[in-house]
Amino acid sequence: MESENIPVHFYFCPDPEDVEEDMIADFPGNYDEGDAAGKCFFLTASEVCRTHFVRAYKNLSPLLGDKYLKSLSVCIDLSGIFNATACYFFHCSDDKNGEYHFGARPSALTAYLKNYWDSDYTLSPFYQHLWEHELIHMLDHEHAGYKFSPESADYKEFWIQYILSFRSEGIAELYDLMKGHNPIKDMNSARCKFRSEIFKLIFKGWYNSENIQKSKKQINESVIYYSVGQWMVLHALSCTDNTELKSLLQKVSLQINDGLDVNEQDMFIIIKHALELDVDHFIHCLTECGSDGQVFISPVVLNEIPKRIINDRNRRQGKDTDIVYENDDLRLVGLFDRIWPENSISYSSRPGN
Ligand SMILES: [Zn+2]
Repeated sequence: MESENIPVHFYFCPDPEDVEEDMIADFPGNYDEGDAAGKCFFLTASEVCRTHFVRAYKNLSPLLGDKYLKSLSVCIDLSGIFNATACYFFHCSDDKNGEYHFGARPSALTAYLKNYWDSDYTLSPFYQHLWEHELIHMLDHEHAGYKFSPESADYKEFWIQYILSFRSEGIAELYDLMKGHNPIKDMNSARCKFRSEIFKLIFKGWYNSENIQKSKKQINESVIYYSVGQWMVLHALSCTDNTELKSLLQKVSLQINDGLDVNEQDMFIIIKHALELDVDHFIHCLTECGSDGQVFISPVVLNEIPKRIINDRNRRQGKDTDIVYENDDLRLVGLFDRIWPENSISYSSRPGN
C-alpha cells in the first residue's frame, strides 16, 4: 500500500479548540504564527506523527501485506492521560471491520518534534520503533483478547495478565530485539531474570486489598516483560517439530548473541510464526524443552502460579465478583485449568516435582 493510501488519521485529545496555550508551550519548535518561520502546532504535530507511523507501517509491510485496514485512528494525547508512551487500544478496535485505534503520549510527540526542528537530534531506538511495536500488537489482536480489571481485588487476575504480558509484549518487541536493541542478548540471562521475577511475584504479600495494590505496583514497575518476553517467545517457538524453523531460530539467536544483523526475511518469518502462537501454547511451552534442550522455567517454579490460583479460587470479592468472571474473564481465569486441568493436577507427579 502506498503511504498516501494508508488510511491513518490523527486527532488530538483534548480537541484543539479546547487546548490552552500553556498546554503546548513546552513542546519544541516555533509556533508563533506572527513569525514567518512559525508553524501551526497542530498541523506540524500531525505531520510528524504521520511520518513516523507511516515509516513503521512500511517497515512492517511484509507482515501487513494482506491485512484488511479500513481505518487507523491515532489519538495524540496532549494532556498526559495515557499510561504508555504509545498504545494500541485493543478494546476499542474492531478487527473484523478493520478499524483500529492507537494513542501517543506527549513524550512521543516531544521526541518527534525535537527531531523535526533539530537536525542534530537523533531519535533513540525506543522512539524509532514505537509504532512497529504497536502495529505488531494490532496484528496480534486475535490472541490478545483477555480482559482484566486493573482495580480487581483478585490478585490472580493480575498474575495471569502479568504472565500473558510476556507473550504479547515479547512478540511486539521481537522487531527491536532482532534490530539489536534489547539489553538481554541471550536465552540464559532471560531465563534467570524471569525465574527471579516469578519468585518475587509469589513471595510478595497478597493478603489484603491495600497490600495487593502495593505488590501490583511494585511488580508493574519492574516491567521486565519488555526485555525478557522476546526470549520466552523464541523459546516457545523452538518447541516445535519444524526443523527448518528450529535451525532458523538457532541461527538468529546466535546472531543476536554476537550483536550481528538479522536479515529482514528471517526476522519476518519469525514474527509471523510468533503471531500464530496462542496463549495456551505459549504457557505450555515454557515448561517444555526448547531446541537447546532446556526448559524456559522449571515446572516446580511455574506451577506455584496455578497452585495459588486454584487454591484461592473463591477469594474474589467486591462489585466485580460476578459480572467480570461471567464474561470474558472466564477464559482468563480458566487459562491454567485448560493447560493443567484441575482434576488431573497432581503436583507430586509432574516432572521436576
Ligand atoms: Zn506493548
